[in-house]
Amino acid sequence: MQGAFVENETMVRRLGACAVQVRKPEQLVGLDGLILPGGESTTMGLVAERWGLVEPLRAWVRSGRPTWGTCAGMIMLSDRAIGQKEGGQTLVGGLDVTVNRNYFGRQNESFETWLIVPVLGGAPIRAVFIRAPAIVETGSAVEVLATVPGRGEDVIAAVRQGNILATAFHPELTDDLRWHALFLAIVERQAAPV
Ligand code: GLN
Repeated sequence: MQGAFVENETMVRRLGACAVQVRKPEQLVGLDGLILPGGESTTMGLVAERWGLVEPLRAWVRSGRPTWGTCAGMIMLSDRAIGQKEGGQTLVGGLDVTVNRNYFGRQNESFETWLIVPVLGGAPIRAVFIRAPAIVETGSAVEVLATVPGRGEDVIAAVRQGNILATAFHPELTDDLRWHALFLAIVERQAAPV
């Protein structure tokens, strides 16, 4: 809909998988996984409404098909968001977390750091946070994959809930393919045999 979709497409292709851009509900048919990229979640909500994608996306997530939201995409997938635009904003939901939409501040408060992510092996992984959200509350089915120091507390930067993956940062802006490989492994496990 908006944001860093081209970069995600490139990463998926580098791993040997097929990637297409989705703008219409009918383009979801036949896909094995879906990435909601980073960008601006209020804009994404508006575009999703205009393109008639809100209900199809909710149905997609509800059906348990693999879905990965990065940054604004993570906000879209969250069941609850604080710091929304006045009047609220459209969310797809499905991920049982509360997200603080601009936890790490505005554009000039972007930063890069190294995360240790046990499910991705021992080597630290670079993470680019841009006006990034943070997860401040999780439901019982949510597995925390990575935390990062926040304002006087550690906050959650990556989670998995079944076939839903969510990251507060932008793996597609680094050269490390491990997050995309993890998502493709989830997709592969779920995909119907051909
Ligand atoms: N905080 C932004 C939002 O509300 C997300 C920023 C990003 O995706 N880099 O949409």
